[in-house]
Amino acid sequence: MNAVHAPKPVEKALRMLCQANQEAYAVGGCVRDCLLGKTPSDWDITTSATPEETKQIFRGFRVLETGIQHGTVTALIDGAPLEITTYRIDGQYLDARHPKSVSFSRSLADDVRRRDFTVNTLCWNPTDGIVDLCGGAADLQNGILRAVGEPDRRFREDTLRILRGLRFSATLGFELEAETAKSILRNRQLLTVVSAERIREEFTKLLLGKNAAEVLREFHEVIEVFIPELTPLLGCPQNTRYHCYDVFEHTLHALESIDTDETLRLCMFFHDFAKPLCRRTDENGTDHFKGHEKTGSELVRPILTRLRYPRKTVDTVTELIAIHDTKAPKTKVEAKQLLRKIGVEHYRQLIKIKRADNRAKADPHAIDKKLLQMENCLSDILKNGECYCLKDLAINGNDLKAAGISDGPEIQRKLNWLLDAVISEACPNEKTALLAKLQTAPQETGSC
Ligand code: ATP
Ligand code: MG
Repeated sequence: MNAVHAPKPVEKALRMLCQANQEAYAVGGCVRDCLLGKTPSDWDITTSATPEETKQIFRGFRVLETGIQHGTVTALIDGAPLEITTYRIDGQYLDARHPKSVSFSRSLADDVRRRDFTVNTLCWNPTDGIVDLCGGAADLQNGILRAVGEPDRRFREDTLRILRGLRFSATLGFELEAETAKSILRNRQLLTVVSAERIREEFTKLLLGKNAAEVLREFHEVIEVFIPELTPLLGCPQNTRYHCYDVFEHTLHALESIDTDETLRLCMFFHDFAKPLCRRTDENGTDHFKGHEKTGSELVRPILTRLRYPRKTVDTVTELIAIHDTKAPKTKVEAKQLLRKIGVEHYRQLIKIKRADNRAKADPHAIDKKLLQMENCLSDILKNGECYCLKDLAINGNDLKAAGISDGPEIQRKLNWLLDAVISEACPNEKTALLAKLQTAPQETGSC
């Protein structure tokens, strides 16, 4: 295991608290992450000092009462905001989420007992080193997530812990200890009391975890509590020569084959959600899923909205789902036609999505060459500055007006017709050539 190296402001705060005859430790995720050789996202300090005493000790610093009712103050130490929380015992939990009250304690043992998993109870300060009151070090060493105390009671007190458990299992690659795992499954229905925002936060982190697929495979019933639309994917057959898994298993393989990027992970998780709805079996017993991309996109939008994903995420993910089955362009002309439709960013994402989707099929490398070509076409087009959209056309609406085209929809139609000509290499992207080409444009070009 690695050593704990706290940032200077953390060391300073711990020292100041100890010099004032209080106990003080860095605690939880920061110690866990340091021992795993990761950089902690934040540092939490736990102390025997009451909030009033803490404020007194840090009187020379800016101190904000950020969560005073739970014993937390934030001290700004040399520019770094540090959350300092008094040892506490949580009172009764009434809403399966928040303690009705908290009481302060002078005992570190009380404080660690209220924490969720043993690996999140480890404490550290420069004098005492690691303080391990719940067996967290051994569990960390063995990669085990174990609820502190009696799992049923702990998950019923605060249901969010169920999802935190799955999230840590996915991100750390740790296994949930047997009783903890059983309790998570047993108590999963309680998740209905957790706010959509908190579910979304944990679910996103879970999806981004390196072990997301394994966790989803084992605990899909937990996810089904807040995404019941997942249920029909389980065991949904795909009797086609391209597939070797049912829809759910295919989804998991696709998920683990894509970058750890929120949009892409969401896209892979949801990309085939409409397959069970769209499945038709022909007389030869072969399954077809016609239209599942578009139906899927429509099905997934309300799910993402309900989970309070930002509007932009909802739009991007659903747009990508709607095009995920688009054929890879075979020629540069086709590549430009696709670029015109979906833009560079979606084009790049589509390559990744198609690659991951294919990695989860019977022949995982079947379309590698096509995707490489799709990539090469894009680099070529961008490198040469080739025109694939109206913005890059060497002629604009004013040029057409000057050439005598009447203002209004006709201008747009003609520009699109000229862009077609440039993309299909029927005309170079040069003003004179385009004006000449314009003479050959049909009067009614229809909508492009
Ligand atoms: P990360 O910061 O990487 O999300 P973390 O474990 O540090 O993980 P925080 O939310 O920062 O999570 O919480 C800090 C510590 O507070 C945890 O390590 C744990 O000891 C405790 N804790 C947080 N949430 C809960 C909870 N719902 N129930 C019990 N203890 C919790
Ligand atoms: Mg943390």
